[in-house]
Formats: sequence, structure tokens, C-alpha cells
Amino acid sequence: LLADAGDEATAQAVASRMLAELGRPMWVAGRELFPSASMGIALWQPRYRQGEELLRDADAAMYRAKALGRDRSELFDEQMRAEATRLLDLEADLRRAILADAFEPWFQPIIHLASGEVVGHEALLRWMHDVQGPLAPGAFIGVGEDSGLIEQVDWLVYRRAFQWMTRHREGYVSINVSPRHFHSDNFADRLLLMLEDAGAEPSRLRIEITEVALLDDAPRALRMLKTLRSRGIFVLLDDFGTGFSALSYLHRFPIHALKIDQSFVSGLEDAEHPESLALVRAILALAGTLGIDTIGEGVETEAQAAILRQLGCTMGQGFLFGRPMPAPATDSRGAA
Ligand code: C2E
Ligand code: MG
Ligand code: MG
Repeated sequence: LLADAGDEATAQAVASRMLAELGRPMWVAGRELFPSASMGIALWQPRYRQGEELLRDADAAMYRAKALGRDRSELFDEQMRAEATRLLDLEADLRRAILADAFEPWFQPIIHLASGEVVGHEALLRWMHDVQGPLAPGAFIGVGEDSGLIEQVDWLVYRRAFQWMTRHREGYVSINVSPRHFHSDNFADRLLLMLEDAGAEPSRLRIEITEVALLDDAPRALRMLKTLRSRGIFVLLDDFGTGFSALSYLHRFPIHALKIDQSFVSGLEDAEHPESLALVRAILALAGTLGIDTIGEGVETEAQAAILRQLGCTMGQGFLFGRPMPAPATDSRGAA
């Protein structure tokens, strides 16, 4: 709404009158509806050069109103402006980094708990930032997903990971895929083409997705899983236990292994809070019954490894066994 609201107090008073008005119950097709609205307010400032800038800020304030529980109004403020600017800068930085191919997979070993043998590696994305050094995904994945740029980043990382696979011949390599990327058209085709280009075998690849990717669009996810499986690619369910954990899908979807989230693994030794232990035990019993492999994530101590082993968890990954590391220089020949 564009109105000559004057100062902040007037704008907020106008907004609350409008919210009350919009919130009146109404009858539609014989049903009583209780509408609500979320409103963002931005006041015209001399620094704006175009109307769109004002709308963009009002939009940001509206998302804040939604995030704070809806049915309310929020005023765009300096803090929001600083955050919006930071995110815009980060997005621009990310675009430049994509052009410069500034992303690398770092590799962390996955261990067979009973034998201690390395069975594979997870490829973890690192942004080799020219000022801030190697950045872990937490610093930028949100912006990457919101802007859709993460897909381009992923392909750059996958390509390097596949090249590494052909030089490092032992075990499998698992890559992470964001839910939206997993659902994108031609994901499987493009993946197979890239594997072929690199000369890497599909059967040595594992794909890590989270539960969200399955529940977003279950029929589509099932088709994708079947396509991948038919080409010999196994899918692992990452961060298991943190999402909806709707256990019914475990036997409907061809899932090869569950990765038990590190938040549960880190709680295994906490005698005062036995919930993690109970949960991990239940997950492992279920996976055992269904014949699904299990990987404990974020294993940092011998005691955690021992508990997992004792409960029948097949594999482990964590700082105890090895941190994510760049591919050795001798190893990265031709990786550019
Ligand atoms: P994830 O797939 O669950 O990866 C495990 C995370 O736990 C990694 O964080 C890893 O460095 C960290 N970790 C491993 N062992 C330990 C441990 O013993 N203790 C603790 N405290 N942490 C441990 P990282 O590398 O920061 O990655 C974060 C997330 O970013 C990943 O979680 C994954 O969801 C996402 N991600 C990573 N690489 C990619 C990628 O290439 N593409 C996409 N779309 N997402 C990625
Ligand atoms: Mg993962
Ligand atoms: Mg995980």
C-alpha cells in the first residue's frame, strides 16, 4: 500500500486499523472465514531512487511480520536494512565466486565401526574466499538456496569431487544435495553425464538428502530415487531425526542408509538426559529391522563410538576419525 502516512507512529496506527478491518470474520460460500494479514511498512526516504526500493524494503518488513507470527505489521528499520544489505552483498559475492570457480570439496572419512576401515568420504563444500579464507556452508548456504545460486555452486563442487573419485580409488564418495536442487528437472541426467565426463563410476557415488526433500513432493522424490537407484546410485538420508522423521516413508522409499544427526550423537554420553541414547537406540533398531545401513554423524569421542558400535550402528563419521580436509595437492592435479 502506498500512502502518505507521514511519520512512523501514524503509519503504524493506519496499519493496525487495516489489520483489524481485514481480520473481520466473513462468510464465503456458507462458511465463516477468519482472514488475517501480515503487513510490512517502509517510509519514503530521500535515499530511495526508485519506487521499487521502497517496495523491496516494505517486502522485507512483511517477511519479518510473517516470521514473527503473522497477523501483525512490522516497520522496516535500520537493522533490517543492514541485514538486507549484507545479504545482497553476499549474493553478489557468491555470483562472482561462481564465475571464478572458487569452490572446493573437502573430504571427510566415513569409517566402518566394527573394523575401523575407511569405507568412503563425504565431499563437503568449501568456499575458498579470497579475503575470509575457506568458508563452511553455514556462512552462505541460506543465501545460496534463497537465490537459487546453490545449484550452480553444487555442480562446480560435484565436478571436482568426481574428478577426485577417479584419482582416489578406494570407497565411495557422498555428495550433499539441497531439497530444491534434488527436485530440479534433469538432476539425475546431468549427474550421470558429469560422472561419465569425469570417468567416475555411478556405483561409487552416494547422494545425501534430508527428509525435507522426500516430504516436499513425495511422488516426485520417489521417481527420482528410483531413477538414481536404477543407475546404481545409492541415496542416504542426512541429519536423520531432526526433521519430521515420518517413519512410514522409510520402507516406501529406496533409502540405502540413515545418517544419525550429530545432535543425538553428541548427547549419547549425557547420563542426565538419556533422551538421545533412547532415540539413537530406537533409530538403530528400526533401521536394523528394515535392513538399512546407519552412519553416526559428528562422532568426537571414543565413548560415543563405543556406544554406537554396541548399539549396532554400522558406520561413523566425525572429528574422532578425521576432519574434512582439502584433497592433497599432489592429488588435485588437473582438478581445476
Ligand atoms: P552435513 O551434510 O550434515 O555435514 C556434516 C557437517 O558436520 C559438516 O559441516 C562437517 O564438517 C561437520 N562435522 C563432521 N564431523 C564433525 C564432528 O565430529 N563434530 C562437529 N561438531 N561437526 C562435525 P559443514 O562442512 O559445515 O557442512 C554443513 C552442511 O552444509 C552439511 O551438513 C550439508 O547439509 C551442507 N553441505 C555441505 N556440502 C554441501 C554441498 O556441496 N552442497 C550442498 N547443497 N550442501 C552442502
Ligand atoms: Mg551430509
Ligand atoms: Mg548431517
